[in-house]
Amino acid sequence: MAQINFNYDALSGNYLFAEIARKISAYRAAHPDAKIIRLGIGDVTLPLAPAVVAAMHEAVDELSRAASFHGYGPERGYDFLAEAILQGEYRSRGVDLDLDEIFISDGSKCDVGNIQEIFAPESVVAVADPVYPVYLDSNVMAGRAGTKQSDGHYSSIVYLPCTAENNFAPSLPSRKADLIYLCSPNNPTGEVLSVEELTKWVAYARENDAVILYDSAYSSYIQDEKVPHSIYEIPGAKEVAVEFKSFSKTAGFTGVRCAFTVVPKALERSGRKLNDLWNRRQCTKFNGASYIVQRGAAAVYSPAGREETQGQIAYYMENARIIRTGLEEAGFTCYGGRNAPYIWWRLPGKIPSRVFFEKLLEECQVVGTPGVGFGPCGEGYLRLTAFGEREQTREAIGRIQKKFA
Ligand SMILES: *Cc1c(COP(=O)(O)O)cnc(C)c1O
Repeated sequence: MAQINFNYDALSGNYLFAEIARKISAYRAAHPDAKIIRLGIGDVTLPLAPAVVAAMHEAVDELSRAASFHGYGPERGYDFLAEAILQGEYRSRGVDLDLDEIFISDGSKCDVGNIQEIFAPESVVAVADPVYPVYLDSNVMAGRAGTKQSDGHYSSIVYLPCTAENNFAPSLPSRKADLIYLCSPNNPTGEVLSVEELTKWVAYARENDAVILYDSAYSSYIQDEKVPHSIYEIPGAKEVAVEFKSFSKTAGFTGVRCAFTVVPKALERSGRKLNDLWNRRQCTKFNGASYIVQRGAAAVYSPAGREETQGQIAYYMENARIIRTGLEEAGFTCYGGRNAPYIWWRLPGKIPSRVFFEKLLEECQVVGTPGVGFGPCGEGYLRLTAFGEREQTREAIGRIQKKFA
């Protein structure tokens, strides 16, 4: 008799996000003329950079000729892209890596979800609260989370609360953790970890033989030059950290799909190199990102590609500034938005985030994301994103100011 993986029963249903979608459709049906502005989306909206499009066109033409056709590529990705990544992301910041420490894939979501497979089932997992849900859910599926408690937390997970009180930089856990998921710049808080904070975590991981799984999908949004773009800027991190980066938010690849994961050869546990394990895992279960897409990703690091994608990021970051300063002018407190495309809005009073979400929809026709959807510590906050269109963003903030200021 086939039985299912019962760990799936322990997952939190995506009730909140389904409820949000339902509330928006219901509001739309009841108010067909309302001009709803969506500042809840975590997806880019600007079209691909011309340099990226040109490179992908050229790649398609190559595939159209027998002499330059490409079939299966290397599972780990093409060297031309790994080389561009090494130069563009790492050597330029004083970090030296080898080509075979870079694993190119079709997205960070799958990489951060799959990485737990190479660790023991009994590993103790630590996650920030609030955070991108993939880290937790992938470990629930693997049976590492225990049972769900009434406060929304799982019994076997070590939670790292990120609140205004600790500047959204989590404290070291009181219970020993083996796998530690960190995300900076952070989704949803929009805040970053400083050199000092990251140094603290690298030291913890070294002392405890833990591994840090560092999601840096938004590093290209960092404006403050003192903020690290990579955990490998911290001495000693290569022995303790895996790093994930994606072209999704950097270059508008959410629909194109390309990302990469760095597994340094110096990172060993139980006498094995994690690089060998991840390589084996990828070679068995993944057959490489498309040649066309990898050509497009490499073009992000060309002089034109760099300029064009930086222009897109600047556009989103101006939206972030408009949202942040607009909310502050209206007397609200908010976080993030300086080094990330997310603004974490501290809601007034003790109003629950799903209640405020509805109020904002009904009174301003503006959509945000209730903070509680990212973890219990997200309660009392609403996430707004800078991925909207400029005039719509201005209009949304104008409406909020008019209603609440
Ligand atoms: C968007 C996002 C990613 C990127 O996922 P892809 O699968 O590469 O599109 C990774 N981590 C976080 C926190 C994100 O918000």
